Amino acid sequence: VGGRLFAVSAAPMGERGAVLVLRDVTRIEKMERTQKEFVANVSHELRTPLTSVMGYVELLLDEERWESEAEEKYGGDVTETSGPPSSTRLEFLEAILKSARRMERLTEDLLVMAKVDSGEQKLNPMRTWASTLIEEAVMATSGLFMERGELEVGEVVEAEVMADMDAMLQVVGNLIENAINYGTRRGEEPRVRLAAQRSAGLSGFVEFSVQDFGMGIAMEHRERIFERFFRADKARSRATGGTGLGLSIARHLVEEQGGAIWVESDLGHGSRFCFTLPEVMVGTAAVSVSDAFM
Ligand code: ADP
Repeated sequence: VGGRLFAVSAAPMGERGAVLVLRDVTRIEKMERTQKEFVANVSHELRTPLTSVMGYVELLLDEERWESEAEEKYGGDVTETSGPPSSTRLEFLEAILKSARRMERLTEDLLVMAKVDSGEQKLNPMRTWASTLIEEAVMATSGLFMERGELEVGEVVEAEVMADMDAMLQVVGNLIENAINYGTRRGEEPRVRLAAQRSAGLSGFVEFSVQDFGMGIAMEHRERIFERFFRADKARSRATGGTGLGLSIARHLVEEQGGAIWVESDLGHGSRFCFTLPEVMVGTAAVSVSDAFM
């Protein structure tokens, strides 16, 4: 029916006829496929750092290897070794810590996503000035620019929006981190600009933006980067400890508050991630009506 696949089950109902049950199998199949892909993705993402941890630990514990290396180095009179030289040990432990951090970040993001999916993460939008959201975002992320780079604030409209501050700080924080990690050309200092203006296309909304001046994002990736686990630049995402989940969580949090999120990008010149939040309209109609009768 209409390109969809239905499962039909029929049960006789005495002499008077039968009950026919139609189930939309297309939807169920799609959900099952999405779930399978998700499990495969998570397993893959966890296996890579886990393999690395196990490899390094096995190496550290490989007494024979360190014994023969020490023998080669110091001659045959080595009777006892206590593992690898301390510089090697340090290097391996650091690599282990890095992989463990990756797994920690992934599980944290997965937990947030599970909460989002189950509707457990209840958002509580409240009246907030656009400028307050920007100021808090600047404060929360100033540490990222302590050593290098610059976070600029452009034009900020004087308007109130409905926003869950914690959720929005998570969204803006993620966009700023991405701008630093992916929107900075090699060898250059990160430069990120925040702004908020009345939405030109959507009346009743304020549009916030996080702009970078990096390489930009190819047209075919601009929509896909909001999908779970999608990364345009896998190597760079791994190197920065990315999980590929940040933008999909951001999209959910923004949409849950009645807004939209998207990216505009100029290849070779940078990207501008934008999201909207509903503006609080303070009795404008009432004011104009009473004014008209005065
Ligand atoms: P993560 O950063 O954990 O990989 P995200 O969902 O936050 O996951 O981002 C998905 C992908 O989108 C990134 O891996 C990167 O390829 C791309 N991306 C995100 N932000 C930018 C940006 N400002 N400039 C260029 N590419 C970006």
